[in-house]
Amino acid sequence: SKSKGRNRYEFFSHAIEEQAIEKRRLIEEIRIALKLGQFVLFYQPIFDQCGVTVTKAEALIRWDHPQRGLIGPNEFIPVAEQNGLIEEIGNWVRNQAIEDAAHFYQLSGNKMQVSVNTSPLQIDHEGLWVDEWILACNKFNLPRDTMIIEVTENTLMDPDSPIQQQMLRLNNYGIDIAIDDFGVGYSSLAYLQRLDIDILKIDRSFIKHMESNENSIALVRAIITMAHHLKVKVVAEGVETIGQHQLLQQLSCDYLQGYLFAKPMPTQNFIDRYVRSSTL
Ligand code: C2E
Ligand code: CA
Ligand code: CA
Ligand code: CA
Repeated sequence: SKSKGRNRYEFFSHAIEEQAIEKRRLIEEIRIALKLGQFVLFYQPIFDQCGVTVTKAEALIRWDHPQRGLIGPNEFIPVAEQNGLIEEIGNWVRNQAIEDAAHFYQLSGNKMQVSVNTSPLQIDHEGLWVDEWILACNKFNLPRDTMIIEVTENTLMDPDSPIQQQMLRLNNYGIDIAIDDFGVGYSSLAYLQRLDIDILKIDRSFIKHMESNENSIALVRAIITMAHHLKVKVVAEGVETIGQHQLLQQLSCDYLQGYLFAKPMPTQNFIDRYVRSSTL
C-alpha cells in the first residue's frame, strides 16, 4: 500500500503539472487573442414585464478562437482575473460596448441601454477606471444614462473601500449601476443605503425554483418589494419558462432576461431584431 500511495502522489503531481502547463498556455493565448482581436461581444436583450419591448441589453464576451470556435467567458475570465489580464480585457469590453451603444443609438434614434459586466479586480483605487469610463462615454457623445455597469454585491461590501467613491462618481455622471447575481453574495444590504443603485438583477438560482419552491417565490417577492421601496428597478435573470414569466409578472418584476425570450446573440443579429425594428 506504500507504493500505491506513492503512485497516487505521482499521479496527482503529474496532473497538477499538466494543469499548470495548460494554464500558462491559456494565458499566452489570451494575450495573443487580445492582440489579434479575437474577442467579440454578444448581446442578450432585456425585456419589459410583458416580454415585448426591449430597452436594454447585456454585453457578454465570447472568444472567437480560430481552432476551437466560440469559447464562453467562464473558460477564460477567471484565468484572466488571476493574471492581471482582466484589466486589458475589461478595457476592450468597455470600449466596444460604448461604440456599439453609439451605433444602436445612431441606427434607431432611441436609447438602448447597454449593460457591461465588471470584475472587481478591474477597479483600481485611484479612480483611473472611472476616469476612463467617463472619457470613453464623452468620446462617443452618448446620452449619459446609456450605459449600465454591472457589479456583484461583493464588490460593494466594504464601506471603507475607495470603490464606494468610484461608484458614486459614476452615478453622478449618469451611468447606471446594477447589482449582478443579487442574493447569492455575502448579503449585506448596507450598500443599498450608501449608494444610489439603479437596478437589482435577481440571480438565476432564485428564478429557477420559483415554480417548485414556495420559499423562492417568497424571496423573489421580498426582493422586488424592497427594491421598489428604494426606487430600484428589478431584472429577473435566467427566465426559461412561461410559468416563471407569469409569476414574475404577478410580482411586478420590471424586466426579464432569459432563454424564454432570447439567448445572447452576435451584434448584427441583435441590431436586425431589436435595434432597427424599433424604428418601424
Ligand atoms: P452573468 O453576468 O450572470 O451573465 C448571465 C449568464 O447567464 C450568461 O452566460 C448568459 O448567457 C446566461 N443566461 C442568460 N439567460 C439564461 C437562461 O435563461 N438560462 C441559463 N441557463 N443561462 C442564461 P455567459 O455569457 O456564459 O457568461 C457567464 C459569466 O461570465 C457572466 O455571468 C459574467 O459573470 C461573466 N462575463 C460575461 N461577459 C463578461 C465581461 O465582459 N466581463 C467580465 N468581467 N465578465 C463577463
Ligand atoms: Ca451580468
Ligand atoms: Ca443613477
Ligand atoms: Ca448574473
